[in-house]
Amino acid sequence: MSTIVAKFGGTSAADAGQFKKIREIVRSDPGRRFIVVSAPGKRFKDDIKVTDLLQKCYDEAAEGLSFEESLELVRRRFQEIINDLELSFPLDGEIGILRAHLQGSPFREYVISRGEYLCARIMAEYLGYTFVDPEWCICFDEDGRLNPALTRRMLGASLKPLQNAVIAGFYGADMAGHIHTFTRGGSDVTGSLTAAAIGADKYENWTDVSGLLAADPRIVKEAQPVKYVSYRELRTLSYMGASVLHTDAVLPVSDLDIPINIRNTNEPDNAGSTIVRKLPKGEIKIPIVGVAGRPGMSVVQIEKLMVSDESGFTAIILDMLKTRQLPFEQCLTGIDTVTLIIRSDLLEPFKEDFFAEIRERLHPDFLGLKENLSMIAVVGEQGTDTSDANVRVLQALTNAGISISTINQGAGKLNLLIGVHEDKYKEAIRAIYTTIDPEGALL
Ligand code: ASP
Repeated sequence: MSTIVAKFGGTSAADAGQFKKIREIVRSDPGRRFIVVSAPGKRFKDDIKVTDLLQKCYDEAAEGLSFEESLELVRRRFQEIINDLELSFPLDGEIGILRAHLQGSPFREYVISRGEYLCARIMAEYLGYTFVDPEWCICFDEDGRLNPALTRRMLGASLKPLQNAVIAGFYGADMAGHIHTFTRGGSDVTGSLTAAAIGADKYENWTDVSGLLAADPRIVKEAQPVKYVSYRELRTLSYMGASVLHTDAVLPVSDLDIPINIRNTNEPDNAGSTIVRKLPKGEIKIPIVGVAGRPGMSVVQIEKLMVSDESGFTAIILDMLKTRQLPFEQCLTGIDTVTLIIRSDLLEPFKEDFFAEIRERLHPDFLGLKENLSMIAVVGEQGTDTSDANVRVLQALTNAGISISTINQGAGKLNLLIGVHEDKYKEAIRAIYTTIDPEGALL
């Protein structure tokens, strides 16, 4: 029997109805032995996530205001679940502990972690699984940085003797017992660490979409899920703004080649998207798996005749960036030109002195700055037919009347980065989406 770690996100655990769906899913495969849960999320559009309510409790307590109303909202969310599922759970005692903490000198990360703690305890009760508190096995240092090696050992030692367990997502603790959380959405990371620690055959990430969509559905309404994506493709898509999985959730499992399967709790029969290192045999290698983008970029253009014969020109520019600790997104070099693409918000505070230093040290023939650029990544590293795909993308943009400000591919497989003016960003994404060929029909 294979061992599966199944992580359920906030919307999947939002109320008793969702808890029931989780139990059905868990029971339908005995391999689903280790369950990771987030705190209850939104039940409807304007609902408030439990983690946000807890943050509010903390903010109010920290300002010396009454937090009772917010705490009551948290209590009610859990009480409703407990009542509807007819469980007996000592909620008032747990809320009492939290109240006492808030009345003292509250610790933010402890407070906001209580949503996952309570949700996992109630879920464990409901499923009849053992509750595992990450306070004892997800190890942070006192500055809040995860210690991955120790975590792997401690989690492995805690879970291996168990037949099944529910683990609370999102937090762990340091040696002194202080709770630390990952950044928001961090239960994905807990799931990934759990899968790695027990050497799971699969890491299932259950959410409210049927997989990773090939484009942002707010821009492309009809965007379809992708069947297979590589870890690297996912990394690029997430970096460029596709939000389905916390970016730190990839590394622990990709190192061990454990596939991540993104599934929909509300549509459990849909196979969703699977993230793997290499496509399984027999699967079609489609050239483009997705398109994503990031607005808010600036382009710095430095031109100087004969620069291609001068060694060290680019190194000086990179050194100027380094001394300012200013990261760049891309550095494109051409004959007698160097183009830097930098996030506008990061460049802003350095704009004047950076440009002054370029002028002083490099005496360029031309120094230009273009702002309001969006960077689009056309992603697909497993396909064989990248040149055709490139042609289709460029053709689609031309047909839509979109001019390209920058373009960069590098020597790897298709990971085409295209800069367009922000006004044309959505149109460009839509145009590129039409070139995605999920069934490989154009191959
Ligand atoms: N509950 C936390 C959040 O809302 C963590 C998570 O959901 O993964 O960000």
